[in-house]
Amino acid sequence: MVTLSQGGAALSLLLLWMATSGVSGFVLPILRNHVGERGFEPLFMGQRGKRIKKEKKRAMREPTPPRIETPYGPIRLNKPPRKCEKCSGRGMLRCHVCEGRGVVRKTGSSKSNRVEMRNVVGSQWTSVHTREGHRHYRVAEMMGSPKKKNVQLRMGNCCGDPISFWVPVDELKNKSLWRKGWVTLEDIIRADGGELLDVAICFRCKGDRVLQCLDCGGTGMIESYEPLHN
Ligand SMILES: [Zn+2]
Ligand SMILES: [Zn+2]
Repeated sequence: MVTLSQGGAALSLLLLWMATSGVSGFVLPILRNHVGERGFEPLFMGQRGKRIKKEKKRAMREPTPPRIETPYGPIRLNKPPRKCEKCSGRGMLRCHVCEGRGVVRKTGSSKSNRVEMRNVVGSQWTSVHTREGHRHYRVAEMMGSPKKKNVQLRMGNCCGDPISFWVPVDELKNKSLWRKGWVTLEDIIRADGGELLDVAICFRCKGDRVLQCLDCGGTGMIESYEPLHN
């Protein structure tokens, strides 16, 4: 059994050993390496940083370009910039969020509306098609039990003459029939009496359908990384 005093003695011995032997001399250069001769290198690099580092390393291994004598002094020809492979020199990439459509679904990517049985009564819903002359409805009453899967909901309108009708809960989950919450008047006017459109401008490309290529910064060309030769 190891007592506390024994543990303390072992720890101090370990520290003494680290100080006297070359352990600290071995650990410190590893930490120092990240701020080495090549300047600061972050500990955690992204994909792009890693690729650039690799390219620079490869360029260092390549033979030095020949020296050409000119009347103005000797020069070395650098390699011309090469075409960006990711965007094939276009400088643009198709938006990955909307897949080039420029629009996304306003209700998100889920296949059906989520109906929470605990607080479904009182929740607000918008009918995709005009129903009984209205679109905005509120769940007024619940019938049946979720266990038996026979829940019926009474939908009541919010304004004008009171209208109500019963719908099965599965109908409320159907995105092509109902929308959770009350959509704005703007959306209703845009629907123009027909079906409500489940579209929104893509938040990533703002409807442009394309995004600037990050690899080449939108220029389509990548400068070759070459070491400076004298
Ligand atoms: Zn987009
Ligand atoms: Zn590119």
